[in-house]
Amino acid sequence: MDRQINHWIDGKVEIGESGHYGDVFDPSTGMVQAKVSLANADEVNKAVKNSLKSFETWSATPPLKRARVMFKFRELLENNLKDLAKIVTSEHGKILTDAEGSIIRGMEVVEFSAGIPHLLKGEYTEQVGNGIDSWSTRQPLGVCAGITPFNFPAMVPMWMFPVAIACGNTFILKPSERDPSFGIKMAELLKEAGLPDGVFNVVNGDKEAVNALLNHDDVVAVSFVGSTPVAEHIYKTGTAKNKRVQALGGAKNHMVVMPDADMDQATDALMGAAYGSAGERCMAVSVAVAVGNAGDELIDKLSPRVRSLKIGPGNDPESEMGPLVTDAHRSKVEAFIGKGVEEGAALIVDGRGLKLQGYENGFYTGGTLFDNVTKEMSIYREEIFGPVLSVVRARNYAEAAELINEHEFGNGAAIFTQDGDVAREFSNKVKIGMVGVNVPIPVPLAFHSFGGWKRSMFGDHHMHGLEGVRFYTRYKVITSRWPTGIREGANFVMPTTD
Ligand code: NAD
Repeated sequence: MDRQINHWIDGKVEIGESGHYGDVFDPSTGMVQAKVSLANADEVNKAVKNSLKSFETWSATPPLKRARVMFKFRELLENNLKDLAKIVTSEHGKILTDAEGSIIRGMEVVEFSAGIPHLLKGEYTEQVGNGIDSWSTRQPLGVCAGITPFNFPAMVPMWMFPVAIACGNTFILKPSERDPSFGIKMAELLKEAGLPDGVFNVVNGDKEAVNALLNHDDVVAVSFVGSTPVAEHIYKTGTAKNKRVQALGGAKNHMVVMPDADMDQATDALMGAAYGSAGERCMAVSVAVAVGNAGDELIDKLSPRVRSLKIGPGNDPESEMGPLVTDAHRSKVEAFIGKGVEEGAALIVDGRGLKLQGYENGFYTGGTLFDNVTKEMSIYREEIFGPVLSVVRARNYAEAAELINEHEFGNGAAIFTQDGDVAREFSNKVKIGMVGVNVPIPVPLAFHSFGGWKRSMFGDHHMHGLEGVRFYTRYKVITSRWPTGIREGANFVMPTTD
């Protein structure tokens, strides 16, 4: 193994020279498949300098031309979809069809960004005073940085940079060091799409590179997606340095199953939402709140399905669920299962210790199902980020809603019911950023915006959609008069329209 994943600065590969490297695994076999260069502050500085220089010309490029790069980039993503999905699967482990879906979701943000001439249009008011007109515009910020998690190496960066770049900013991506190849691939495709060098740079690295970006005066905005403690650190450090920051954190998404719900539909929904992508999704459902007598039927229906999940390498078309991303992450997930047992939850299906023939060193764990989980338990309070579903019993709707509203996270929540009144009450009152009604993973489309509430997000703007345009631009209002004839002289009172 001597493949090295480097950085991308000014339209070309920049060989990492820090002397620090991270291992990039193939989670399906457990083998190290490459090493990734971890950038130091000097390398980050080089990228920022280049991005700042490129901002001068890119910000002055007509939005129509910027949009055309997005059109071309979208076409390249579509034409290369199968190969791109293989890159995601080989480093993350998720099944190929799931990887493809995540790229398509990212592609939709590229489509949205191709409409940027319309999205940047300001507003104009004639005659705000005698002979005076007023108009507003949105202008780009400068050098923006994106720091992204391992679980969506394609989609999450694409929540950020298409909007940022289309708005006229330059962008530095710091991908997760677990699956860094996709960042470089996107840089290559953007170049092929006609993006000028230096508008999109990639620095690979760990917290040293992140902190160098956060501390750099010329980085004016930071978009982050990852775990809550890091999101909070990014938000506090970045805003203390007067940067704009949007930092999306962890989750513990609940799905309420009312007694009147279609139980087969709810079971299907839970299988996909809890075990898809091995639970490594910020929108994964990790808690099912069974209301009234829904619990027994749900457990009866779920347990045989969890036991018979088809687990295997992500590139096997038969697999429904792939491995976890690293051995360390698998150990963490399995330790949580141990804690759940110690704390008194009923372990219905135990996924620990799974060994796959021919893939004995892969980072696999089976699907796990707990019943009678209570709100004091660590498996209820903390984000496990693995294929572990906890069923909590609630006596009625009010108890279920209270659980969700009291939880520290507020990313997504769903309700399965046939009662429109209950569903409406839930959608209206629940303290959550993204809500599903008979939809288990209510991921908004590109033209809406993605983000949670409470400790699932720090900052004011959700990602992509109009929220993204607002985040990546500054608002300016211009008031103008072209005086002809009489001059009024100095006026010492607040000008009004009268
Ligand atoms: P992570 O927080 O460990 O890492 C995210 C990024 O931060 C990476 O690029 C990493 O290099 C960097 N980083 C890690 N530790 C750091 C530190 N101490 N200082 C500075 N930077 C640091 O997250 P992860 O394990 O890659 O991803 C999983 C997490 O992301 C889960 O908590 C999941 O819920 C969350 N996530 C949230 C959303 C959302 O929309 N809210 C979406 C996807 C993932």
